[in-house]
Amino acid sequence: MFKFLKFHRNRSILEKVREEYNMYEIAIIGAGPAGASAAIFTAKAGKSTVLFDAGTSATKRALLKNHYGVKEITGPELVETGKKQAEQFGAKLVDEKVTSVEKTENGFTIQTEQGSYESKYVIFATGLIADLGEKLGVETKPATEPRVKTVFAVDEQGKTNVPNVWACGTVAGVSMHTIITAGDGAKVAINLISEINGKRLVDHDVLGN
Ligand SMILES: Cc1cc2nc3c(=O)[nH]c(=O)nc-3n(C[C@H](O)[C@H](O)[C@H](O)COP(=O)(O)OP(=O)(O)OC[C@H]3O[C@@H](n4cnc5c(N)ncnc54)[C@H](O)[C@@H]3O)c2cc1C
Repeated sequence: MFKFLKFHRNRSILEKVREEYNMYEIAIIGAGPAGASAAIFTAKAGKSTVLFDAGTSATKRALLKNHYGVKEITGPELVETGKKQAEQFGAKLVDEKVTSVEKTENGFTIQTEQGSYESKYVIFATGLIADLGEKLGVETKPATEPRVKTVFAVDEQGKTNVPNVWACGTVAGVSMHTIITAGDGAKVAINLISEINGKRLVDHDVLGN
């Protein structure tokens, strides 16, 4: 019981109640390297985070020998580890396909095949798939990376043209390599958290502490 509370203490009672009603501060769509990496930072920074995934990550077909710091790891193992890390810090993982994202007065309504969720911010990390964001009015452009067709037009922070909608990873046009897509997810999450908090986030854990 105490261990569970340990990681979720960084969120208020109010936020826990809100989560009971599927209301989150940040919704991340896609739990491949980009999305799960973003969720690790947002949840660890105390932002109530819901992470959706349809289970179709391109990474699941990869054997990774060029992911810095990891001698060799299979794509499925990397993806599962990333999801567990995000959950460990309190992110709610929803293994369901998101079918629509609509703007509301207070943010967004996210529909899945089995439920409905509310959030203030949305981060798209949908890999090779841009159609969900296109339907929401997110500006797209032809991709420059091989094997990728369409990506979202984002600024250097990771912001799209739709207020409070951000994007990271392959769908944001970065090189389709796990160390880069995971890095981009972290970058975009840190930029969003810093904007919400009004100061730059530094998330460092120290040995021996
Ligand atoms: C065969 C192969 C080999 C590879 N080998 C390497 C390698 O050796 N080294 C390397 O660095 N990279 C490799 N890669 C690339 C790497 O695996 C990834 O493609 C890259 O990291 C993409 O990360 P991402 O998070 O942007 O996208 P993805 O990993 O594709 O994740 C996107 C996620 O979004 C989810 N999603 C999309 N739409 C929805 C929706 N509507 N609702 C809910 N979820 C949704 C998908 O289910 C998916 O899980 C390889 C890729 C392939 C295909």
